Amino acid sequence: MRAVRFVQVGKPLEKADIPIPEIGSSDVLIRVAAAGICHSDAHYRDGISKIDRLPLTLGHEIAGTVERVGKDVRNVYRGDRACVHYLVSCGSCEFCARGLEQFCRSVEMIGKHRDGGYAEFIKIPSVNAFSLPDEIPFEVGAIMMCSSATAMHALNKARFKAGESIAIFGFGGLGFSALQLARASDCGEVYVVEINPAKLALATSMGALAVDARSADPVEQIKEETAGIGVDVALELIGSAKTMRQAVLCLAPLGRATLVGLTAESMSIRPYTELINKEAEIIGVSDHLATEFSALVKFARSGKLRFPQGTLRVVDLDAAQINSALDALQNSIDHVRTVIIPSSDK
Ligand SMILES: [Zn+2]
Ligand SMILES: [Zn+2]
Repeated sequence: MRAVRFVQVGKPLEKADIPIPEIGSSDVLIRVAAAGICHSDAHYRDGISKIDRLPLTLGHEIAGTVERVGKDVRNVYRGDRACVHYLVSCGSCEFCARGLEQFCRSVEMIGKHRDGGYAEFIKIPSVNAFSLPDEIPFEVGAIMMCSSATAMHALNKARFKAGESIAIFGFGGLGFSALQLARASDCGEVYVVEINPAKLALATSMGALAVDARSADPVEQIKEETAGIGVDVALELIGSAKTMRQAVLCLAPLGRATLVGLTAESMSIRPYTELINKEAEIIGVSDHLATEFSALVKFARSGKLRFPQGTLRVVDLDAAQINSALDALQNSIDHVRTVIIPSSDK
């Protein structure tokens, strides 16, 4: 089968011809119909996040059709449309037993620790295959399994509820989904903090109040808009100590700052005035859970997870096209999500 693989750190991904994987009794083979290109894939290629096992097929945002099932598989059938949960867990450790598979003792991520979806086929454990209703296009099904799922998990961790206001720091794939999810839950005002004019314009067109961090301190701007009170939830999706601190500072009393972006920097907080006095909370968020998918599928099925004109680009399973999409993510110039749809004629 055709695949585009990560062979060497810091080098472009390469085209490869590899065998279709053999499946075990509890595995399924998926014919990939759509695979999202994610910012983390750019980090893997460039060595910012480490991958130990090379060569490896990247791609953890996957939807397709079930091509083959192992003899013990009961949850999906040949020909089913399916999307893929990218965390492969043991199912029996103390964390798996509590439905917290992101902390599984032997967790592996598809497209990082094992071959992913930049290929014509992928082998996964059947428990990682979730049925994808006909109303949800494959490309939406693929993307929702990463950024939308993580955005939903972040809102769940923040205990975000109807009527509450929210500030979203960073309007990439996660922010895009977070805005649609928040608005679908009858929220109060949504502020999107960005420095990229195209992203600010897109956020405004999707119903958010744009906060241009280039023009003035975003915390001051949010405070001004909220009569000095602040927001109930702040979602940090950028991964910088500066914006994490801003997320905490723009909180109202009882506000929750939910940190999703990754950074190794340290951040400083004045506990009394900035946290304790407001009974504010800082919450870490990592990945998402299989138990959240039914709500996510319901949301996507309602048509509220949408990619407005010009926000989704399709490329072929082609190394040059994939590498240039990764370049665009690396340089943060893009407000467009890219999805690989393998052509069938090669
Ligand atoms: Zn992703
Ligand atoms: Zn486990």
